[in-house]
Amino acid sequence: MFYLKLSHGFSSIPPGSDLIPPGACKSLNSTVIYANNEVNLSEVDIYGFDYDYTLAQYSSTLNTLIYNTARSFLVEHFKYPKDIGKYDYIPNFAVRGLHYDIQKGLLMKIDAFHYIEPGTVYRGLSPVPDEEVLQLYGGTFHVPLQQDSGFYGKVRSGPKVKQFMDIFSIPEMTLLAVANDFFNTNDIDYDPVHLFKDVSEAIGMVHLKGFMYKWVMQDLGEKPTDSVLHRLVGHGKKLFLITNSPFSFVDKGMTHMVGQNWRDFFDVVIVQADKPHFFTDCIKPFRRLDGNGDLQWEKINSLDKGQIYKQGNLFDFLRLTGWRGSKVLYFGDHLYSDLADLMLRHGWRTAAIVPELDHETKVVSAHQYAVTLTWLQALTGLMERLQVHRDPRSKKVFDEWQKEREELRVMTKNLFNPQFGSIFRTCHNPTYFSRRLSRFSDIYMASLSCLLNYDLSYTFYPRRTPLQHEAPLWMDQQHSIQSLMSQSAP
Ligand SMILES: [Mg+2]
Repeated sequence: MFYLKLSHGFSSIPPGSDLIPPGACKSLNSTVIYANNEVNLSEVDIYGFDYDYTLAQYSSTLNTLIYNTARSFLVEHFKYPKDIGKYDYIPNFAVRGLHYDIQKGLLMKIDAFHYIEPGTVYRGLSPVPDEEVLQLYGGTFHVPLQQDSGFYGKVRSGPKVKQFMDIFSIPEMTLLAVANDFFNTNDIDYDPVHLFKDVSEAIGMVHLKGFMYKWVMQDLGEKPTDSVLHRLVGHGKKLFLITNSPFSFVDKGMTHMVGQNWRDFFDVVIVQADKPHFFTDCIKPFRRLDGNGDLQWEKINSLDKGQIYKQGNLFDFLRLTGWRGSKVLYFGDHLYSDLADLMLRHGWRTAAIVPELDHETKVVSAHQYAVTLTWLQALTGLMERLQVHRDPRSKKVFDEWQKEREELRVMTKNLFNPQFGSIFRTCHNPTYFSRRLSRFSDIYMASLSCLLNYDLSYTFYPRRTPLQHEAPLWMDQQHSIQSLMSQSAP
């Protein structure tokens, strides 16, 4: 038995207790669930799920197939030059959450304060120098909110800049970059607005013509979804599914992952829900599908287990099930379509699936990143102190440090992705994506299987990160400089 000294006295801890929660005191890893807000799982009775990229995870080969097929549509259907077909898919060129300037044909990363991150603007496949970006945007890196696509990332009339939030949009961004690159490098005059529209349509046709559904069936391997569902039902939890995908597609995927009786796990199954409108409009009533997937005409007065429903809306869902407030936890990968309204309007708890955490936590845990970042922080602190000294020698040192700081910033960015860096951070700030992740999700994780690492009465406590006025000043971080220097001493 050992004891912890607390302010109220001593508290005993049973021997052999594992007091280290998964990942908490070790390096970050992709099996951990991260909390933006405190969530006690013992208060959650009902678990809801999106389907694509939530219950079903797809490999990156899907991106290549979407890209190749959309590229063929551009050439065959929209009569784009055949030589665009020579551009192969470039894995890891684009990342999720980027913005695209439709009129200028530029792909870029924007931070939580609506500023473009210098060094992350691409015209086609080539970076645009910062000076040119400033010129293009009237002497500022700031992109006004009214130029941005709508709240759900949709482009209606007017917006000049679209944010790509969907995991499926990575091949779309790559095709846009490739087509822009082709026209630019061959000096062919074209209208970037037409290009944007045609690429969107070409990608849309991949979905419409059902190609994607066919590939996905071949792509689904062994998945832990089965274990997660078994565990939740075994603990008496109620489960439901709300997806925009059609029943035949979900049925095949779930049968593959979970088995023929997958519907037994769910109390309510809703397909083609038309999220995010499902969460905001109360116009469309629920319709029932029969066993063959044919629409039935009767009025829906209850949502019954074993049945399949189409469309509907959340207001009817709440009325018919009574599943309200924080006893419901909904999992989805799309911050806007899946989670935003639930968080802002309806008070369900929300869990974001962010597969990119797998790669990003590996980078953040690597020694090289820790050393570079510590030195970058220390150097910034030193610059903050030195700036008040105006003599030529100090000025010279300051300029050298500034140059080194720039190099360190590029180095840390490139560890994530050479073009756009981390999806969560710009050099100084959270990204536009990251701010919305913390705003719309209570918890977030790389995949649903992370849930298997936690007891179903576990409480997720967010780490108390200091606000700016609570944080130590840079100059108080001397100890980190000293420890870094002692580490690198021979
Ligand atoms: Mg999804």
